[in-house]
Amino acid sequence: MKIKIHRGQDQIGGSIVEISTKATKILIDFGEELSPHQEIDTTLILQNCDAVFFTHYHGDHIGLYKSIPPDIPIYLGGTAKQIFTELVSRTDRESLPLVGRFSELAPLRIIKIGDMQITPLLVDHSAYDAYMFLVEAEGKTILHTGDFRGHGYRSRGLMPTLRKYVGKVDVLITEGTYLSRTDNEVLSERQLQLKATELMRKKKYVFVVCSSTNIERIATFYHANPYGRYFICDSYQKNILTIATKASAGKSSLYDFKKTVVYGENLEERFFNRGFCMLIRSRDDHRLIIDKYPPEERLVIYTMWRGYLAGENQNENMIRFLSGVDYRYLHTSGHADAQTIESMINQVQPDVIMPIHTENAKWFHEKYPKRALSTIELNT
Ligand SMILES: [Zn+2]
Ligand SMILES: [Zn+2]
Repeated sequence: MKIKIHRGQDQIGGSIVEISTKATKILIDFGEELSPHQEIDTTLILQNCDAVFFTHYHGDHIGLYKSIPPDIPIYLGGTAKQIFTELVSRTDRESLPLVGRFSELAPLRIIKIGDMQITPLLVDHSAYDAYMFLVEAEGKTILHTGDFRGHGYRSRGLMPTLRKYVGKVDVLITEGTYLSRTDNEVLSERQLQLKATELMRKKKYVFVVCSSTNIERIATFYHANPYGRYFICDSYQKNILTIATKASAGKSSLYDFKKTVVYGENLEERFFNRGFCMLIRSRDDHRLIIDKYPPEERLVIYTMWRGYLAGENQNENMIRFLSGVDYRYLHTSGHADAQTIESMINQVQPDVIMPIHTENAKWFHEKYPKRALSTIELNT
């Protein structure tokens, strides 16, 4: 079995990993770069490819999906596909048929492609319905972590899942995003919820600038919202929350967003009287709503990656949106910290570790000098 990391060894985003046997070739993720670094020949990479597996719907993993020829099967989590469809129908309607053909993954439902067996394992990340993949072929096992973390609501299942369904692996392909982002302490999603509760009690009108598809974070604010206050969003966001509500029905009340109200001017008097928490994005019409409420009674919380506010990945739209607004930063990473990565390595005991989705591969090479590698051909 061969593993080739086409992109992502020394950068965050744009991940593409190829795993092949003599008979079969699959790709895990086919992502767009956050900012252009490394040109690649996608046509060449897709040659003789038997299937593409997406770990989750973030652009740095799924972004190049449109360049995949129609005869190559594509896999994405079933609920993730619904959420991604909603996103695409808002931003890029003509691409909907391309998303419509995706095959759906479900936790632990094994997919066989040629002589390979792929098992999707549900993980906690800032994208809903995200997966690690256990790939087995020619008597070898590879675990590809995708993006994941150890401090989210679903993270408690991580180690038991690895123990029960993975065991020891030959190769671990792991993300290392957080190893270069050590600017803030890692709060758990629950700790973040407590902080949010405290802040939200102090002001009647709360606006939360968040990613529309970060369901974990939205659940945090939904449950932190003081009793009696409205939870508001626009109709696009409501559609996404309805998908999560339906998908988790009977399994978890954490993602039950049934009490969410769609914003409408006719309801403004009620909102004004009772107070609310409203989910917003960097749109002009959302900014107009913020400006309707007196600065001393409102609270704006920014709960996305700090990187969009300054530096290489600065988002001009967001900067403009927030200009003149006094906002609080309240966020925690969607990625595993060093301790979680170490525990995972201890658990799956890989002979070889291949870092991806990281700007600090050095961390792996120093900590595991005999095991950390960049390319590999396994003897089978
Ligand atoms: Zn990513
Ligand atoms: Zn991600």
